[in-house]
Amino acid sequence: MSSPFDVAVVGGGAAGASCAVHLALQGLQVVVLEQGPIPRRKPCGGGMAASVQQWFPFDLSPAVDQVIRRVRFTWCLEDPVIAELPGEAPFWIVQRSRLDAFLLQQATAAGAELRQHWPVTTLQRQGEHWELQGPAGSLRSRAVVIASGSGASLGSGLGLGSANPRFATTVAVEVDADFDAASDDPDTARFEFGLVHHGFCWSFPRQGGYSIGLGTFIGREPADAETVLQRLLPELGLSPEAGVRQTSALRIWDGHHRLHGEGIVVVGDAASLCDPFLAEGIRPALLSGTAAAEALQRWLGGDGQALAAYSQRMRRDWGESMAWGKRIAQVFYRVPRIGYQLGIKRPTAPQRIAQILSGQMGYGDIAQRVIKRLLFQQS
Ligand SMILES: Cc1cc2nc3c(=O)[nH]c(=O)nc-3n(C[C@H](O)[C@H](O)[C@H](O)COP(=O)(O)OP(=O)(O)OC[C@H]3O[C@@H](n4cnc5c(N)ncnc54)[C@H](O)[C@@H]3O)c2cc1C
Repeated sequence: MSSPFDVAVVGGGAAGASCAVHLALQGLQVVVLEQGPIPRRKPCGGGMAASVQQWFPFDLSPAVDQVIRRVRFTWCLEDPVIAELPGEAPFWIVQRSRLDAFLLQQATAAGAELRQHWPVTTLQRQGEHWELQGPAGSLRSRAVVIASGSGASLGSGLGLGSANPRFATTVAVEVDADFDAASDDPDTARFEFGLVHHGFCWSFPRQGGYSIGLGTFIGREPADAETVLQRLLPELGLSPEAGVRQTSALRIWDGHHRLHGEGIVVVGDAASLCDPFLAEGIRPALLSGTAAAEALQRWLGGDGQALAAYSQRMRRDWGESMAWGKRIAQVFYRVPRIGYQLGIKRPTAPQRIAQILSGQMGYGDIAQRVIKRLLFQQS
């Protein structure tokens, strides 16, 4: 059998690609196993805080489609609240197929091997190595990164991440449109809270069109997406039938879990890191990929505690905020009209929301006040 890789990364999305690029830059022998082709179309709004740039030693701007300077919130398409985002480039819109391919390109340029059409079906620890198998073949590695997204089952079989993951139901619509004809606000991202039961809709401008969608965050009943889109799309100057609808389940944060085992870590959606209030999943995917690479490098160098430290770091740097995000979501989406009035229409709210979206603040910084306000109003 051929000599083992240092690390096999299962999945070439944002989390896997970010991990692979950092590992390869450290000179480790890395293989990325991706079940699909690259680039790969993925349902995703593509909104992310520009602060993710801090985790990469190269410029991410080739993957950025649009810079967002303002966020517009509405309730049933009315009662708008506008938040001006702070800083030079606080919020970016990316096309996921481009971002993921760009990161993988950086990884392969640094020496990683990319194998496309290589689904991993089984993972087994054999002595000092992991053996990975799939219809395309088998290989060995000293360590494994599970980065296989929301549908991942490889991690839970090994006791990593949530045993009973929670999911949001989403419908994504990609619409090609001319900004001048459709909107005069190409640097404004829109969030609409009144049209979707237990969730919200978004509309993000990108090169040559919009990423539009809706998600429900409590229960698994799908929203009546067609009725919502028939109202939302004309508001943007688009035909109600525009774009192709794509429904998917998004694994969201649901508690603190162990994200590591012996020579193995789980990252991104496979680790249930996606924000349960606003569906922000790219930033935690990139953060966990970066943190996992640092931990694996130390573990491969003989630090036996390094992977446990990864689980702790993700809890501290992301999970603690998400625990508050989950509580906010549970209260807000049950009484969204009150939530909108008390959480978003307050004079200080636009500034706070802007700081959360740009990554300057976590939910913990605002949660106690927001929840108290919502609960007090209900009683
Ligand atoms: C409709 C929608 C809109 C969203 N909008 C936003 C947004 O605007 N901003 C934001 O921050 N987040 C958003 N998210 C969330 C975000 O898309 C995810 O959190 C993010 O994609 C997670 O990245 P990942 O690398 O963990 O998973 P993925 O991007 O799903 O990548 C997983 C990869 O693993 C591959 N794979 C799966 N199984 C295997 C296997 N067995 N073997 C080999 N390869 C495998 C898949 O083909 C895939 O390429 C949205 C999600 C949805 C569904």
